[in-house]
Amino acid sequence: MSQLKECEQQLRKEAHGAYAHEHQLQKWAKVLKERAAINMWDPKEQRHAHLAGWERELQDGVGDAEAGELLASLAEAGRTDAENEPRKGKTPADSKKLEKDFADQLWELRETIHELRALHKELVGRVRSLRFFEKVRDMQQGSHGSTVEAHTATGLKAVPVADLGILSCCGHMGDMKYLLEKAEKQECPVVDCTAAARESSIVRATELGTDSAMAGGRYGCKLTAVVEKIKSIPAEERVLVFVQFPDLMNKVEEALVAHGIQTLKIKGSAHQMTTAMEKFQREDIGPEDERVLLLELHNESASGANLTTANHAIFVHPLHVGSLYKYVACETQAIGRIRRYGQKKKVHLWRYLAVDTVDTAIYHERSQAQAALEKEREKKKGARNVAL
Ligand SMILES: [Zn+2]
Repeated sequence: MSQLKECEQQLRKEAHGAYAHEHQLQKWAKVLKERAAINMWDPKEQRHAHLAGWERELQDGVGDAEAGELLASLAEAGRTDAENEPRKGKTPADSKKLEKDFADQLWELRETIHELRALHKELVGRVRSLRFFEKVRDMQQGSHGSTVEAHTATGLKAVPVADLGILSCCGHMGDMKYLLEKAEKQECPVVDCTAAARESSIVRATELGTDSAMAGGRYGCKLTAVVEKIKSIPAEERVLVFVQFPDLMNKVEEALVAHGIQTLKIKGSAHQMTTAMEKFQREDIGPEDERVLLLELHNESASGANLTTANHAIFVHPLHVGSLYKYVACETQAIGRIRRYGQKKKVHLWRYLAVDTVDTAIYHERSQAQAALEKEREKKKGARNVAL
């Protein structure tokens, strides 16, 4: 929940920034009638075209009702924040200076809207994956009855758990027959949901099991692949395995130990952690020594540790973190523990994604967003003077 909250806070902050910039522009545009007609500024409406366009998009629906409501309320909150803020920008008396300030402000607003849009997409993804995880957790905890309300060909009905499916792309539920039927058209049964559901994104509720969920079903395939990968790595090389959730960490450990892979875990008291770390940092490995170190991604206590004795990093799933920045920071930090001064071997990085689940959705969305962001930054470097 906190990951979504973080995204929400950022979005509200960016919306606040966008509206504050717009207020400033509105004030200056009145003085600068002619200059204001240039670029994205609509002098008649006294609005920035992109910001107004974004508002229209929110009104038209963002492809997910729940995320849409959240976005609208955050946009509104950001707008109120901006309105309640004391106006600080003075209007320069010199018209040349005013023109320049106006252009700068316009640029700032454009940049803020870019961020806002990236966060908007991020938030929709987060809402969907959180919904999926919550549904999965509910099923695994067995907190439901023998039937669950879900979408069917004849509307919302109580569906027996045996016939129930959850879409991994958005977390919506339906009866299996109807889900399969809709998946042929790449649709989710929820009318306002634009998630491209496919047959492979349907997770049978019965497949989730309870505690056995990690040992069988789709998680099982992934963990088996991770185990096989570790077994294929030369015996003298060490491996870091990054896991995000504590409950998943236990499952991964269970699977590794069950396959005879000696595993250390960074968990518990400071003393336990230090002992595990020291053991892992020893240069020579005996046949009985642990070759694998399991780490929780958010565990800061181990973040500074030099782990160059390992040269493989395995990410069991993409990072479900609240923002692209955090994603990049997290992954960079994780890789940085082994790819640093003192590393003598070639560093390998392995990412495991279950096909057509939120894993791939998150991973692709993140890498695309990252690429777009980098491209944008490159452009920005040279284009500042040209664009205005
Ligand atoms: Zn859906």
